Amino acid sequence: MPILEKNYWLETVTTPPVQFRGDLPETIDVAIVGGGFCGLSAALALAKRGVSVAVLEAETFGWGASSRNGGMVLTGMKLPVPTLIKRYGREAVRKMYAASLETIDCVEQIVRDENINCNFSRCGHLEVACKQSHFDGYAESAALIQKGATPRLEKLLAFFPGLLTPVKITPVTLSAHGDLAVLSVEDSQAVNPLQPLPLADNPSNPGELVAVIGYPMGILGMVAKSPTAVYDRLAFRRDEVGAANELAALSLIRPSATYGHLGDVVGDKLIYDAPTAHGGSGGPVFNSLGQVIGINAAYIDGFSGGTIGISVEALQPLLEAAQNLPEQKKNMTTSRIQVAAQNLKP
Ligand SMILES: Cc1cc2nc3c(=O)[nH]c(=O)nc-3n(C[C@H](O)[C@H](O)[C@H](O)COP(=O)(O)OP(=O)(O)OC[C@H]3O[C@@H](n4cnc5c(N)ncnc54)[C@H](O)[C@@H]3O)c2cc1C
Repeated sequence: MPILEKNYWLETVTTPPVQFRGDLPETIDVAIVGGGFCGLSAALALAKRGVSVAVLEAETFGWGASSRNGGMVLTGMKLPVPTLIKRYGREAVRKMYAASLETIDCVEQIVRDENINCNFSRCGHLEVACKQSHFDGYAESAALIQKGATPRLEKLLAFFPGLLTPVKITPVTLSAHGDLAVLSVEDSQAVNPLQPLPLADNPSNPGELVAVIGYPMGILGMVAKSPTAVYDRLAFRRDEVGAANELAALSLIRPSATYGHLGDVVGDKLIYDAPTAHGGSGGPVFNSLGQVIGINAAYIDGFSGGTIGISVEALQPLLEAAQNLPEQKKNMTTSRIQVAAQNLKP
């Protein structure tokens, strides 16, 4: 089989001419040595933030590994998981793996932002074992990955309409069996303007009209309805907290409402057809009297006709438990009920 001993990437595209700008500048904010993927993407990121950058390349841009690579954008690291865990510990490896996933998003974003015509696609990848040691290594890795890591709550933030920065929230009481919690908001600037919402006295029945207030389209929805310049900047970012921070700073945290009717009530679960999406959980579900009958909790991915909420009967004991906690923890409520209250009475 004839082997073409040439560089595929350099042979299949016309390389744009690079103009040498003459003398190097006297001073520069950042000088980067090496014009491969790392150097050029760092230079691009810095230049976009207004930093002056010089890239010093001994050969031509991409001359090193970057123009010889196979073009695969993969998950994980070069070394097998057991080796990495032995060397750096489980927690560090978990972070490394998460970072490896973020790098894929980063490559995708650069390709999209810079309009790079390279047929980038997420098509999965297959790792095959060729000898016994590979099989053994994969089995060991799979067992370690399955064992997983211990989840740890790092921080909880709430974004309130009209507040330019998020406020910290702390879980106060958690439901043992439902996806429900009462949270404490300590920031008085966020809490003081809010009005408590009335909770429904009677159980709800199928057929009743419902309204859900909150963020039914999630952060993506808020980005979608933001002005074009903001949309262009945030639409393809996968960092949801970063996007929410920017929306808050621009006073673009804007809840909205969806409407429907209660299709079924099963125990403490309400099923209704007021649509919501990822990010819509926590919003209050109202009946036609303006009373809260439940908290929006879940939707079924791929099915837009039904949403699941947790009834106010399941919320009551959590609120009571929260009220019975010591004095310093009493300034509490479910944060998103308060957000909705603010918007009901603007
Ligand atoms: C054959 C091959 C296949 C690969 N396949 C894949 C793959 O499919 N997927 C993947 O994710 N990774 C792959 N890799 C790895 C990946 O290509 C590299 O990790 C990546 O390109 C490194 O980028 P870099 O910018 O750090 O280094 P480089 O691209 O090597 O850039 C370094 C640059 O620095 C310049 N330089 C060095 N010293 C000096 C100096 N003193 N002064 C000025 N300039 C200097 C060099 O000329 C070079 O241009 C592959 C690597 C190889 C070699």
